[in-house]
Amino acid sequence: MSEKFKPPPFNYCDYRCERCDERERCRVYKDNAERILNHYAKGEDPYDPEIFFKDLHDIFEKTHNMLTEMAEKEGIDLEQAAKEEIPEENPEEYKIYCLAHEYYREANRFIKELEKTGIPETMREDFQDLVWYHTLITAKSGRLVSGFIDDFDEEVQQAEEEGTLKVINKGITLSKNALQNMLNKLPDHLYTIAHLMELLKTLEQQIQTDIHEKVDEEAKT
Ligand code: SF4
Repeated sequence: MSEKFKPPPFNYCDYRCERCDERERCRVYKDNAERILNHYAKGEDPYDPEIFFKDLHDIFEKTHNMLTEMAEKEGIDLEQAAKEEIPEENPEEYKIYCLAHEYYREANRFIKELEKTGIPETMREDFQDLVWYHTLITAKSGRLVSGFIDDFDEEVQQAEEEGTLKVINKGITLSKNALQNMLNKLPDHLYTIAHLMELLKTLEQQIQTDIHEKVDEEAKT
């Protein structure tokens, strides 16, 4: 990681605040904790939909004002920037994203099946990990490949890639552990679980060999 560019912890986290060691220095966590406490102090329920969406609106407004202020300081004309055409990357061109997406589809099917039959208490934590990371791995893989054409300087680009890959790898490791534990408790699902573990292994290998590799279009037809 670069010496000069130190991204805040929430840039590359898995959003599982209850398990995170960075809470003390995380602005996102502190802002949210403060928001919840303020509502309780006023006798309000912070999870009431009306209150939650009002908070969300305030957060967007605050972020918009902050970005406008930063752009003004840097001499950037936001109106002009919005008019400029931004090139878009198609994540499906990249092997890494396709593998992550395939894992998402298969894992999602398995999760729905388990939900129908009921999750045994002894498997609850593994199930939660599986659910949480099957979306996160795909979302972060999409973010990774979309960033390949960003016009960041080299240092920021490198930090962005390293940070995003760290979260993806964490998701893969914890998902593999969860599936391994499930394998012992759900012998009836042996084939599905083994297939999901194989997909994660292939994704891991793709990360180790080449994150920029594109899908072979001819092989697809
Ligand atoms: S406290 Fe939550 S938002 Fe902050 S870095 Fe940790 S997981 Fe991310």
